[in-house]
Amino acid sequence: MAILKLDKVKKTFGSGHKQVDALKETDFVADKGELIAVIGPSGSGKSTFLTIAGGLQSPSSGEIIVNNQNLTNLNEKKRSKIRLKEIGFILQASNLVPFLTGDKQMKLLDNVKKDNMTKEELETLYENLGITELRKKYPSDLSGGERQRVAIAKALYSKPSILLADEPTASLDSDRAYEVMKLLKKETENNETTTIVVTHDTRLIEYCDKVYVMTDGILEEKSKKEVEQTDPLSH
Ligand code: ADP
Ligand code: MG
Repeated sequence: MAILKLDKVKKTFGSGHKQVDALKETDFVADKGELIAVIGPSGSGKSTFLTIAGGLQSPSSGEIIVNNQNLTNLNEKKRSKIRLKEIGFILQASNLVPFLTGDKQMKLLDNVKKDNMTKEELETLYENLGITELRKKYPSDLSGGERQRVAIAKALYSKPSILLADEPTASLDSDRAYEVMKLLKKETENNETTTIVVTHDTRLIEYCDKVYVMTDGILEEKSKKEVEQTDPLSH
């Protein structure tokens, strides 16, 4: 079942000779329970694609349909409601509130959304991410990798129907990066989430159901073999 659909979506920044076609006309569909990787070099349009798919910025043209709701003509208030209900983000700029401890970040979500993880589920998640000991700490007391893992916990805690992750393993060592991908795969399967992970790391695609490559604003699905053989990150 299609849970996320982009229909002829385009994003252009600037105008005249400064114009950048960050995302060329794109059709994209993601089904329930899929873990999808998007890889591509820096500046190719990956973050633009992800933030538009999640309704964080509007496309220049085209439509975005999230769980049968067309985001295109909604005002920001309605869009943010759908985001809150359906979408979890793990973005490059951390989604953590600076003045709250890890535990309180989760409690904050309980105030705005029901059906979040149970206490037991959250304990298991903390354990899987290796952050049980960090729950009472503030983001500023954590290392980059620790903060990234707390941010991942926060995104998963609300059991979103769509999880959008922009380089979620960027500041983790390889072992931890593999662990996080395994966890994302498990959560995606168990909760029937649709997860899209932007990554530089082609080794992580082994955990994914589908792989897309972004090149100069053009998104194309490729087989894992093709990606491994060509290494699309080396231009
Ligand atoms: P990636 O995430 O693959 O590194 P981005 O989606 O961030 O790529 O950027 C794609 C292109 O769009 C780049 O050329 C970038 O400079 C440009 N771009 C992204 N966001 C903006 C913006 N807000 N204003 C102008 N140009 C932008
Ligand atoms: Mg980016």
